Amino acid sequence: KRNAAEKEFVFESRLPSFAIPDVDMTLPEFVFDGVEDYADQVAIVDSSDGRKYTYGEFTRLIKNTASGLASVGVKKGDVVCIVLPNVAEYYILVFGILTVGGIFSGCNPYAHSSEIQKQIRSSEAKLIITDPATLAKMTDMNVPIVVAGGEAPSGTVAVETLFRADGSKAPSVSISPDDVCLLPYSSGTTGMPKGVMLTHRNMVANLCQTMGRRQTRFSDDQLISQTVLGLMPFFHIYGICGLGCVGFRSRGTVVVMQRYEIRRLLQVLIDYGVTHAPLVPPIILSLVKNPIVDEFDLKALKLTSIMCASAPLGFGLQQAFQKKFPDIEITQAYGLTEYSCVTMSHSPLVNGMDIKPAKQGSVGCILTGSKLKFVDPDTGRSLPANTHGELCIKGPATMSGYFKNAAATENIIDQDGWLHTGDIGYIDEDGDVFIVERLKELIKIPDDEAGEIPAACVVLKPNSPVKLNEVKEYVNSQISSYKKIRFIESVLEIPKSMSGKILRRTLRDQVALKYRGQ
Ligand code: AMP
Repeated sequence: KRNAAEKEFVFESRLPSFAIPDVDMTLPEFVFDGVEDYADQVAIVDSSDGRKYTYGEFTRLIKNTASGLASVGVKKGDVVCIVLPNVAEYYILVFGILTVGGIFSGCNPYAHSSEIQKQIRSSEAKLIITDPATLAKMTDMNVPIVVAGGEAPSGTVAVETLFRADGSKAPSVSISPDDVCLLPYSSGTTGMPKGVMLTHRNMVANLCQTMGRRQTRFSDDQLISQTVLGLMPFFHIYGICGLGCVGFRSRGTVVVMQRYEIRRLLQVLIDYGVTHAPLVPPIILSLVKNPIVDEFDLKALKLTSIMCASAPLGFGLQQAFQKKFPDIEITQAYGLTEYSCVTMSHSPLVNGMDIKPAKQGSVGCILTGSKLKFVDPDTGRSLPANTHGELCIKGPATMSGYFKNAAATENIIDQDGWLHTGDIGYIDEDGDVFIVERLKELIKIPDDEAGEIPAACVVLKPNSPVKLNEVKEYVNSQISSYKKIRFIESVLEIPKSMSGKILRRTLRDQVALKYRGQ
């Protein structure tokens, strides 16, 4: 326990201060405020077949969807689970749900059926929106289903029914900024995925922080109106907030891409003149190392900026990228679902501010309105600058809690409101933040290709007839492909500290050594 008289080391943003959020708006109101002036601009285009929606069509369909959802029984506070890949209509559905006062929970359509069903049950969804290919993963759910992107089998509702509903008949629902609007699933620092309750206020606050200021209306010279790559999964907070909401709020055009493949990525970037791409480190690695990249005329790229987030981007990789693509600025952002999305970034996304950029290798600086501290995981004491500790954050974008899981909420948000991220890092004397490792209960080991891969350590009983491969196959049959164990190792015991905590780093180093040596 910390002594009350002890000095606390709390760090605040070095960016200009402004009230966040200083409006009581719902997320759709905030994102589409003043959009009438951009009715003819393309909001979203699907790279699978080029179909597109202007902002005028997009907002009209959102209203229709809200009305259609009400007519199929969706009421304020109901969770609607979308189990779809990235498609152009995705955000129409999301904002339609929010407009009718519902809560959107995005689910990975490529997940194992048992994982999808677990999420739907846990979220107590009142409606599922999916496509014909994914429908088979949702047997016996006893929840009404809307089908998009193909024929709707009997007993389900076609998404066109929602799109064709009369938007003027949408019920007027009174929504408070403190109502929950999103319920993404995240594992947090430990254990099984949990529903993260994010309110309209959380989301609006995080967007204000991410975009550098709140303006009810942007003036044209403040707009960046990028052509934004829509490859990050829309069910994840990165896709919803960092990509979708930021893209639409700044009146950009989102170019939807369903799955990653390096040739297809380069083709889409070139064909659609993408100017800004939110990405993750393994894709940056491919852009640097994969020889296929050199088959393309890289001068045809219009890309000027990449935001890399979600996992550590090595300093060396960032430099190698910058050398190969000198005209593309790559910056990092750090975020987590429990903080509504972006927590640190290199600079706010709105132009016109003269701010010293953060150093390469760092995840950026603290955004306006957030506070950070770094605590010693063993003593709970906060630490001065340049000292490694668990990164804790406090601010207006902190989730209201895990859905129906008070124990897990208490585990991650302490009594003083600090959100314990499970990441180890430090802040330097200039206010730039560096992440050095994860404290979370995850055992991932470094891999040249993928960046990191899942590995497992098993303690077998003496003379156990169980084969490691059988364990691996059993576990892998229950989970999504990206979580599958790639390397399994038998150990005599799991190393633990004196206080009984698993010594993850020791274990990981041990396994990584074996993995590299194989
Ligand atoms: P999620 O809630 O799925 O977005 O996962 C959040 C976690 O991703 C964070 O707690 C970090 O462990 C990790 N993460 C996100 N961005 C970064 C980054 N730029 N560098 C290192 N780790 C990151």
